[in-house]
Amino acid sequence: MVTNPGRSRAAKVRLLGLELDNLTNQQALDALSAMWADRHSHQVNFVNAHCANVAQEDPDYLRILRSGSLCLADGSGVRLGARLLGQNVVENVNGTDLFPGLCQRLSESGGSLGLLGAKPGIAGKVADWVRERHPGVRVVFVCDGYFQAMDEPSALRAIATSDCDVLLVAMGVPAQEKWLDRHRQNLNVGAGIAVGGLFDFYSGSIPRAPLWLRRLGMEWTYRLYQEPRRLWRRYVLGNFVFIAHVLRQRRRKG
Ligand code: UDP
Repeated sequence: MVTNPGRSRAAKVRLLGLELDNLTNQQALDALSAMWADRHSHQVNFVNAHCANVAQEDPDYLRILRSGSLCLADGSGVRLGARLLGQNVVENVNGTDLFPGLCQRLSESGGSLGLLGAKPGIAGKVADWVRERHPGVRVVFVCDGYFQAMDEPSALRAIATSDCDVLLVAMGVPAQEKWLDRHRQNLNVGAGIAVGGLFDFYSGSIPRAPLWLRRLGMEWTYRLYQEPRRLWRRYVLGNFVFIAHVLRQRRRKG
């Protein structure tokens, strides 16, 4: 049986049919480190308000989030939603902020990293970022998320034989989680982590919000400012829809 290093230990935040592992960033890194001791292809997902909304409409995505090894609470929306339900999220844990710590842990253990996702050329720039700042990490696989550098069957074969401890998959929600779920039995990695826009940030293609805005839990406003046409529905409408879902759950409980 596959053990679940994160799930077995953590307290849970229960929200809209999801069970989020209520961990600090350090605890999340500990749980991740425990995963690459084996080759069980643990799946790790992050859930923000948008993800929770998508999961209400997509039972397969909801199932995947519920069945992964680790499901982490990402963003101020989820924190607010939990608070409305009388629960406390201990820390915002998202892939982008976790990434330097993850590379540090991999470097300390001589671990290896695979990068799958984003437009052609972007994952290669993330590999350069890793090699420059964390030379102890072996980057063993790099491919874009449109399979232009290599076709999907070749990519799957290359991952399986690459001795990859951690595979980051950045193809957007919910495609990346579904891709991992579909293929993880054959990936032969320690952990597959769905990371959304992480490659765009570390490649320098999309600037991140200033730290003060992130500390206020308002990074989404900066993303909205950068891509209003694509993201207004997700953030403006989506935040209202999320809170409406949460209040409905609260009424049902009360
Ligand atoms: N992406 C990809 N393949 C696809 C669609 C998207 O690799 O078929 C990439 C896209 O280039 C971006 C990443 O997925 O780098 C995340 O996209 P988005 O910002 O929509 O992420 P989300 O916020 O939905 O997680």
